[in-house]
Amino acid sequence: MKPAAGPPTIPSLPRELRSVPLRTIAPVATLALLVFAGWLAWHRLPLQMLAALACAAPAAVATWLVHKRTAQLSSAGLLLCLSNVAGCLLAVGELGHRALPWSLLALMVNFFLVHNRIATPANLVMVAGLLAMPGVLRMPALDIQALVVIALILGFGFRFSRRLQGDRTRLELLASLDELTGLPNRRALEKTLVQEIGSARQGRFRHALVILDIDHFKDVNDHYGHTAGDNALVELAAILRLELREQDKVFRFGGEEFVILAEAGSRDALASFTERVRESVQQSLHGPGGGITISLGAAMYAGEQYWQDWFSRADAALYLAKGNGRNSVVIAEDLG
Ligand code: GH3
Ligand code: MG
Ligand code: MG
Repeated sequence: MKPAAGPPTIPSLPRELRSVPLRTIAPVATLALLVFAGWLAWHRLPLQMLAALACAAPAAVATWLVHKRTAQLSSAGLLLCLSNVAGCLLAVGELGHRALPWSLLALMVNFFLVHNRIATPANLVMVAGLLAMPGVLRMPALDIQALVVIALILGFGFRFSRRLQGDRTRLELLASLDELTGLPNRRALEKTLVQEIGSARQGRFRHALVILDIDHFKDVNDHYGHTAGDNALVELAAILRLELREQDKVFRFGGEEFVILAEAGSRDALASFTERVRESVQQSLHGPGGGITISLGAAMYAGEQYWQDWFSRADAALYLAKGNGRNSVVIAEDLG
């Protein structure tokens, strides 16, 4: 709790996990398609070479999208999946049965790039293309072994991918909750603020950030033990849940600091809301040594581009509230 430049941003865990297959596969697919285009040029097949380059283009864009600072994973996955399907169909169209292993690889890989609801139809289109081309799966009789392998790849790929997506969703939920209080944690706050500021810049947004910090909390721990401190944190979380309106969100930022993202039409409305929260905590929060109070610092959103700047204004207000003797509220001045 000090008026420092905003807190550092923590990386989003599930997003990191999602980007790994894309980051690895996108450059490999681009390279493979470029080598194929070179091979076609070497064999004096200019039209086919152009087609291979056209297939490599979405993979190259996908490579750029996953490696840039604000990676666009969904678009990259979609482009890469498209590249895979088109590139493989072109390869089997040119090389026939010899290029089938590439298609098997692409069928499996697609399940790791995009959601099942995209990978499945994309893969079915690819299999239909392979079946339609003479000399690939029909040579001229049906290649039963290849068909069985394709069916297994589709089955396993679908199941593994669904399992992975389920695990990812669970992980995302776990990574966004504070274990002690059950409130959304700092990771969730950062994600919410980035989203809110993104949409705020397109329209009307009357929100305030309220940081609240328990007064002299160290004393509770020191005199009555860590468990007493933990109980007070859990109790405070319960009070805040009850106090907040449906449109407000509360997060445990860390330690004994909580953050409320509150809808507030005006500075006056924010002042009465924060005062109500302070009063209600004063009346309801008790530790083994008696009443426990909180200090609050709040700031209306003032068009900041980065949530850290908005947060810093609220944090500076909290610093003043502590300086005012604690158990008090300070609302940051509006930016003129
Ligand atoms: P101030 O009024 O200036 O905020 O004083 P303070 O004592 O509340 O602040 P200080 O930063 O000195 O101490 C915060 C304490 O919060 C220290 C730390 O042990 C305690 N704390 C942080 N997280 C937890 C937790 O999860 N459980 C418990 N029991 N204590 C915690
Ligand atoms: Mg603190
Ligand atoms: Mg404190």
